[in-house]
Amino acid sequence: MPVTLLGAAEIRALAADLDVTPTKKLGQNFVVDANTVRKIVHVANVRAADRVVEIGPGLGSLTLAILETGASVTAVEIDHRLAERLPSTVAAHGVAAGALTVLDADALRVTELPGAPNVLVANLPYNVSVPVLLHFLQTFPELQRGVVMVQAEVGERLAASPGSKAYGVPSVKAAWYGSWRLAGTVSRQVFWPVPNVDSVLVAFERGAAPRGDDTLRRTVFEIVDAAFGQRRKMLRQSLAGVVGGSAAAASEILAAAGVDPTARGEQLSIEDFVAIAREVADGR
Ligand code: SAM
Repeated sequence: MPVTLLGAAEIRALAADLDVTPTKKLGQNFVVDANTVRKIVHVANVRAADRVVEIGPGLGSLTLAILETGASVTAVEIDHRLAERLPSTVAAHGVAAGALTVLDADALRVTELPGAPNVLVANLPYNVSVPVLLHFLQTFPELQRGVVMVQAEVGERLAASPGSKAYGVPSVKAAWYGSWRLAGTVSRQVFWPVPNVDSVLVAFERGAAPRGDDTLRRTVFEIVDAAFGQRRKMLRQSLAGVVGGSAAAASEILAAAGVDPTARGEQLSIEDFVAIAREVADGR
């Protein structure tokens, strides 16, 4: 029996049956258009051998499009009613038993995932999209690539290059884990309810080798937070606190890392931040 997708009428009927009124608090904007979910799966290049993790499966529209490829899915959903209903929805749409595992949990707190997923595909809850992405990349190193749908401004930040207007803390922290690119725009009209923001697809690929261990990562993130916390200041000033107080000490560290002490955070690449963190770690 082939897998079939959810239609708009069925999605509303499911929600009514579950007594679910989409809430802003949980970022509940459900995709009601089969072409959109198929496009996401296509951009993510999901293959039958892949093990996919989906954050926030909701009523199951994207879940079914992923399962249609033959891949297995582990889905993490915080709303108990949605988590509970998902297995019977996918079974009714022709999915073989065992292809889907549902975790009724807050994705921000998940520390173990059954099935060791290698691909992340999600229409993320917009209020927690960046923390949830960083948490998953940090906690599950076997995740190699993925495609997520996020609010347009967030997607532009995640994929921004140094020196551009959108470049900031999320851009550098995301770049610690790998490379990111914008992979398409999505019309507001494909959602129910229609959100008041635009959405984009963002694709990522984990770097071939880790940039460093977790201690170095923490130092990099600390430096990034300081550098962008005082955006208009030169690095030698914004990093003074991180290195124990003086702008002179910060200048020395920056020079040793090969970074101009009068530069500003938004001009620095992830490689620059890693070089600075290595110097800071050496001095600690
Ligand atoms: N994937 C579905 C779709 O495309 O129609 C729903 C996407 S909707 C934008 C986000 C989903 O994430 C909702 O089902 C919501 O209940 C769920 N969610 C919100 N916060 C969450 C969290 N912290 N952990 C897991 N799921 C969450």
